[in-house]
Amino acid sequence: MSEAAAIPAVVSAVQAAVAVSPLIKMEGVSKTYDAGELAVQALRGIDLGIEQGQMVAIIGPSGSGKSTLMHILGCLDAPSAGRYRLEGKDVSSLSGFQLAAIRNQKVGFVFQTFNLLAKATLQRNVELPLLYAGLTGGERKERARQALARVGLEARAKHRPAELSGGQRQRAAIARAIVNQPSLILADEPTGNLDTKTGLEILDIFDSMHAKGETIVIVTHDPRIAERCERVVSIVDGQIEDDTLSRDGSSSGRLDTSRELWTGPAATARPHSPVGS
Ligand code: ADP
Repeated sequence: MSEAAAIPAVVSAVQAAVAVSPLIKMEGVSKTYDAGELAVQALRGIDLGIEQGQMVAIIGPSGSGKSTLMHILGCLDAPSAGRYRLEGKDVSSLSGFQLAAIRNQKVGFVFQTFNLLAKATLQRNVELPLLYAGLTGGERKERARQALARVGLEARAKHRPAELSGGQRQRAAIARAIVNQPSLILADEPTGNLDTKTGLEILDIFDSMHAKGETIVIVTHDPRIAERCERVVSIVDGQIEDDTLSRDGSSSGRLDTSRELWTGPAATARPHSPVGS
């Protein structure tokens, strides 16, 4: 084959490699909290692949390992065994310092309790991740302004969290999570402290972020959230019990919180193949 003829083949091989490489790839991830004889195995051999741009709900009963999984996904903690690759980089055995650096660059967190600094304005709260990233004052200000504008809070930049409603605080927390343009947004019960209407507004923001191609993983008990995610991963006793992708990648299915997750149009959807394979 001539050199010119070989180029399209090389390009499609690279495209194929990029296409199959998931943002997140966990293989045999286990986590044991070591309390001597009372050691607790919180995760048992998790195989999980998440593609760039997916919106995934992780559901399961209390104590099933959801928070532990989220801590590992967000590089807040390391697995006891198994391998976790984030954007192709093996982060399973990095030191706490190295994990913190990856976390700052790659992950944006949204928590149930917002976790905003009470004495700082929204502008300062949203700038904070950029401070750790070493941006100049001018760059930080502009990026924070843009992030606040994305969640409709530009006019509130000089307010402190106490001067805002719960929904506005959560929107500010989302602005802080996205300001660093992370590869992955992780949300832990993001509507847990909000009334139904405000919770739905927050879900609208996640939907619009998803539509723009952001990768979002939400740990939740809330069936309204799971209904709106294209994929639902169910954890029981530290293992993935069910992993369902709606057929067209939309949230067209109806959630039944008993064992059969998706009913209606999505009931025949193919289960998402584990480990992004
Ligand atoms: P979930 O988020 O689904 O409620 P968790 O991941 O918090 O579940 O907990 C899974 C299991 O691990 C539970 O049995 C819990 O008691 C245990 N666990 C969680 N964190 C710790 C810890 N720091 N030390 C010891 N056990 C823990």
